[in-house]
Amino acid sequence: MGFEEVFPGSLREALDKVTRIPTYGERGAVRLVYNFLKLSKEERLSVVESLREAAESLRPCRECFILTDEEVCRICSDPRRIKRFICVVEESQDAYSIEKLERYRGVYHVLQGRIAPLEGISPEDLTVDKLLERIGKNRAKEVIIATNPNAEGEATANYLIRLIKDRFPKVKVSRVSYGLQFGSIIELADEVSLEKSFENRK
Ligand SMILES: [Zn+2]
Repeated sequence: MGFEEVFPGSLREALDKVTRIPTYGERGAVRLVYNFLKLSKEERLSVVESLREAAESLRPCRECFILTDEEVCRICSDPRRIKRFICVVEESQDAYSIEKLERYRGVYHVLQGRIAPLEGISPEDLTVDKLLERIGKNRAKEVIIATNPNAEGEATANYLIRLIKDRFPKVKVSRVSYGLQFGSIIELADEVSLEKSFENRK
């Protein structure tokens, strides 16, 4: 018997489907699927059920592109959030890790990736146009670029800084290193709170 005949079809199918997930090559798929199958049947089905739930209900927010189960996310629809501060991140998880600190009171903009010429990812593949539109619509006071501190994140940040300064010369553009650098996020939070207390005075 050849390999094709002994190898279970459902296993081949699962391995094949997982490689459709970005960054999951064959090795990643093997690790995920075989380890997943070590769970009890009950646990496997509960994992599948939660993934199904996520697959059905989650989508990008119409405004900021963060993953949400609403049309417009809870951050964008919260009247207490200061829309004039926009923090730009690569992915939803970056925004949620800043949210976890419960200090930042502005809104986010998720690029859905970063500029990566080697992978053929250019600004047109990201949500850059919508960002420019929001800067205008929100009458942004400050745009905080919080892309990742690696070569691609830096290149993306530099591109955006030039673009925004060119289009909106009056808008302040600042660069903070993403999430884990607590100090810069706290600084950012304080700046936004300051703005808030200023607004409340009026
Ligand atoms: Zn949103």
